[in-house]
Amino acid sequence: MNDSRETTKVEKTKVVGIRRLKEPMPTPLKTRVFTVANQKGGVGKTTTAVNIAAALAMGGLKVLVIDLDPQGNACTALGIDREELSGMYEVLVKDLPLSEVVTKVAGFPHLECAPADVELAGAEINMVGFVSRESRLKLALEKFLTEREAIGARLDYVIIDCPPSLGLLTVNALTAAEEVMVPIQCEYYSLEGLTLLLKTLQQVQQMLNQRVRISTIVLTMFDSRTRLANDVANSVRQHFPNELIDVPIPRAVRVSEAPSFNQTVMTYDASSPGAIAYMTVAREIARRGSGDVINQEVINQIDNLNNGAHTA
Ligand code: ADP
Ligand code: MG
Repeated sequence: MNDSRETTKVEKTKVVGIRRLKEPMPTPLKTRVFTVANQKGGVGKTTTAVNIAAALAMGGLKVLVIDLDPQGNACTALGIDREELSGMYEVLVKDLPLSEVVTKVAGFPHLECAPADVELAGAEINMVGFVSRESRLKLALEKFLTEREAIGARLDYVIIDCPPSLGLLTVNALTAAEEVMVPIQCEYYSLEGLTLLLKTLQQVQQMLNQRVRISTIVLTMFDSRTRLANDVANSVRQHFPNELIDVPIPRAVRVSEAPSFNQTVMTYDASSPGAIAYMTVAREIARRGSGDVINQEVINQIDNLNNGAHTA
């Protein structure tokens, strides 16, 4: 891993507080919408959502974080005072356009956030009576993305942070996304909960959104010294060889300190091990979704066909 080189590339531009990487990350062919989901609390969903979003934005990509957890931890980490703002409750329940709640995140050129307003806790109950209650977020997001594209300001990434449950908010997130990112904390029972998530995902695929799939698994709060962490990592690797990003996020004090300063670790301490790991994971996510990789896959497929044809 090129840890030390990664950090030296972070430069502060003239506008105070705004950081970018000298080497930009590849732009995806179309907007990639990720839902960060795991119904277990405290596994690193929010930490992963905000730090990967921040890292992608530092890589020059246009990123929107949607905070769909009534606790609003993503807002806290991004320095957004949600008491003052309209947020996702208004969007989901009151049909307020997403464009009216999206706010810029200070310190980043291309990072925005749709906050979890304080009322969001009541959204699941208030949505129950709606027709297509599972697709409220999908419709709002599609409209917003189309508007942005029409004015030449296409978003590259949307990252939706979910509450620790498989309720209507998470179902809305799974319906609105094409990709699911699952943070897994390498501890006892960490894989058991995954079965339930997979079942929910299967139902969403059958009833609401055929395209959604788990594309990315991130190991969080990893302690390489423990046998258990390595055992869990091995079994994740076995079950999800293509989805796992094989750069675990270490358990690191700076990562847990950052939110109390209303920051991501990417700005709080860009050279700390946690920040470097998140940067590496973000770069890998961007690489996987770039035209380069897709073209390479097509080339490989054609090569395989050709080889097959030669040997037949
Ligand atoms: P979730 O959103 O799944 O509930 P969080 O992202 O809020 O989980 O993380 C749970 C707690 O663990 C938080 O206090 C967070 O600061 C801490 N944490 C997350 N990732 C790390 C890490 N890599 N090292 C140390 N603490 C972490
Ligand atoms: Mg959270």
